[in-house]
Amino acid sequence: MRHPFDVSTRRLALALTTTLIVWAGCAQPDPLISVPDDPPTRILIRSVPIFDGTSLERTFPRDVLIADGRIARIAPSGSVKARADIQVIAGVGLTLIPGLIDVHGHVGSDSGPVWEGALPDPDRNLESYLYCGVTTVFDPGALETDTFDRRNAVAAGELVGPTMFSAGPIFTTPGGHPAALLQAMVPWYLRWYLLPRFTREVASVEEARAGVQGLLSYEPDAIKVVVDAIPLEVPILGGDIVRAIVDEARAHGLRTVAHIGTVDDALRAADAGVAAWMHGVYKERIPTDVLPRIAAAGIPYVATSVVFDAYADVFRGGRVATRLERETVDAAVLSSFAPVPDGYGPENLRRYVEHLAGTREDRCENVRMVHEAGVTVLAGADAQSGVFPGPGLHRELALLAACGLTPAEALRAATGDAARFLADDPDPEFGIIAEGKRADLILVDGDPTADITATERIHKVFQRGIPLERHPVEP
Ligand SMILES: [Zn+2]
Repeated sequence: MRHPFDVSTRRLALALTTTLIVWAGCAQPDPLISVPDDPPTRILIRSVPIFDGTSLERTFPRDVLIADGRIARIAPSGSVKARADIQVIAGVGLTLIPGLIDVHGHVGSDSGPVWEGALPDPDRNLESYLYCGVTTVFDPGALETDTFDRRNAVAAGELVGPTMFSAGPIFTTPGGHPAALLQAMVPWYLRWYLLPRFTREVASVEEARAGVQGLLSYEPDAIKVVVDAIPLEVPILGGDIVRAIVDEARAHGLRTVAHIGTVDDALRAADAGVAAWMHGVYKERIPTDVLPRIAAAGIPYVATSVVFDAYADVFRGGRVATRLERETVDAAVLSSFAPVPDGYGPENLRRYVEHLAGTREDRCENVRMVHEAGVTVLAGADAQSGVFPGPGLHRELALLAACGLTPAEALRAATGDAARFLADDPDPEFGIIAEGKRADLILVDGDPTADITATERIHKVFQRGIPLERHPVEP
């Protein structure tokens, strides 16, 4: 039997050990991904069918020429001449798809069991996304002191990782989510540092506006607001304050996205003018008579089913690792999800988890209903305990395909549609395969428009035309 005190002691020990390891500058694991020393500037993928991120049909085999980081040419199979300065990759049996986009990811999260309380490894998370073919991530909630620097370093080519969009700290009401959860789960010696950098707890319209203004110097890509109660009994932001955040952000050319839980939360956020629901309605089934109001909002619905299913199963054990999890996560971490330490689990967390276990079918049915009602469903996994950065998105794609989207529709939710939303542009330069677009691409084994799990069988990842080298932890 392990008491909560043991857990805290263990966390403290872990934190200290990690810090010492970082200080000593040793014991870093081998990278999951690396950029070749002398990458080819021209690559010809010969005779490969394409899922282009827009059409739901896979094309006949094509020759695709990548040059200087862009898709230079798409031509009939066999028509592009191979030259000495062009590296040729055979595309037979593969499919070329756009690099995947996770519309709800976190770079600063740890995905091990909640009771381990391990410190996150953001650089490893970035590698893991890329390893799994995720070339773009929207991180809607992170430490302001971390995420913007990291985003900028990736953009400047100083750090290996997917293109990042960052919202930074999360706006909430005093004591609301995620402040309440952090209070409960983060060790005391980290709370004083993390809370004010991870959240903006605003109690009035004035504080809301000032909070948005205070972030502008970081150049956030969006503002994130929470309209949901986690655990179930914490307070939620009022509609007037959400509206003030949305209006202030808009005055500075920024969109606001919302974390929601119930139908009421979804409508309150939509009425205030948010640009996307960053979770689906996950706490209850959407009544059919409310569906037209959800559809009329005209904003995307990022279901993140996988994160709620992961929490629903957190105390149940029996978690089966996926291929990409085995390739990117240490076996010791994967096997540490069971057994759950005796007596672990704050009471409010247990109640929340029980609720999630009872609403699994509702979440799936909600995705099916909103999709049928014409709402744009986007693929986002979140990254939290049990949802690993990269592998989590592939799990989410499978869930979307199990909840009413065809495999091709699920793929589009993680490529073309996701890019249009993130770039706020009907013709973005990523997420789509067409001549002139950025060559963020993946080659997968088989046909993911027929079998969505083909996305896990990655043959090659290209970032800005560079074929990356992938190094699995378990070959
Ligand atoms: Zn999240």
